Amino acid sequence: MKKRPDACRYFHLALLAAIAGSALAGFTAPCRAAAPYAFNGTRAFSYLERLVDFGPRPAGSKALAATRQWIIGQLKRSGWSVEEDAFTADTPIGAIPMVNLIAKLPAASHKVIMIAGHYDTKRFPNFRFVGANDGGSSAAFLLELARILPRQKHRFTYWLVFFDGEEAIQHWSPTDGVYGSRHLVARLTSDGKLDRIQAMILVDMVAGTDLEIHPDANSTAWLNRIVFRTADRLGYKRNFRASPTAIDDDHLPFINAGVSAIDIIGLDYGPGTNPFGGYWHTAQDTVQHCSPASLTIVGRVVLATLEELEQSQRLP
Ligand SMILES: [Zn+2]
Repeated sequence: MKKRPDACRYFHLALLAAIAGSALAGFTAPCRAAAPYAFNGTRAFSYLERLVDFGPRPAGSKALAATRQWIIGQLKRSGWSVEEDAFTADTPIGAIPMVNLIAKLPAASHKVIMIAGHYDTKRFPNFRFVGANDGGSSAAFLLELARILPRQKHRFTYWLVFFDGEEAIQHWSPTDGVYGSRHLVARLTSDGKLDRIQAMILVDMVAGTDLEIHPDANSTAWLNRIVFRTADRLGYKRNFRASPTAIDDDHLPFINAGVSAIDIIGLDYGPGTNPFGGYWHTAQDTVQHCSPASLTIVGRVVLATLEELEQSQRLP
């Protein structure tokens, strides 16, 4: 993961502002006191540590299969039904079996809010890559949400989706990467279920110390607006910055298929000149460079965003 074309940065700034203005014209934010948010970053961090204990977890590996079984157990213990969405990916090194996990929590409305992340890690033959932030954090985040959401009243059906094969097997390209996301969009489209999804919230690399999140210019404008306004309201302006960039990630196949989606992704993970920070895709992506506090911040923002969506009379 995940391409970050900086050349587009300023074009997208203007585009984002224009789209946000028009798309939000009909959206009314609820005026309510903040609910007691129960996202436990320490617990989420313990999930992250457990995931890292499985070792490198590339698509098709035994370690990822064991990780998957552990995740399924956690989800079922939290009261979710879990669908294993198995498929075979055509990759530059041949066919690789992959499995998305789709945890479902039904409600009166069959309309779906999807919260998603990836649980695979990128394969690196020359060093041990455990992907604490890149892969571990999103799966850990979803597991903590899985614990909370069944305890709340909600009118939307919720899906928690753990994508397999987010990482490129060799080099990031339109045909090498986001295998699970591309597969699920194609399947939901052929099943006629894609339009049930009212919003997709993707989280990726959300545990890095010194969390820094910028609006993704590829994400749907009204979702960017709600998430960043919510972060501002909760006092997290230092972590949710104002400088848009453009990210390719698991949300793009959904956006390209017409689904409203946002990628909440941490940038500048560690010092250095890597596009996502110095620890990104290195042996330094370890639990030592991750923080329960960062998971708590993103958890509170996402839960408050979900509350806004639940309270709104109509989504944009
Ligand atoms: Zn990655």
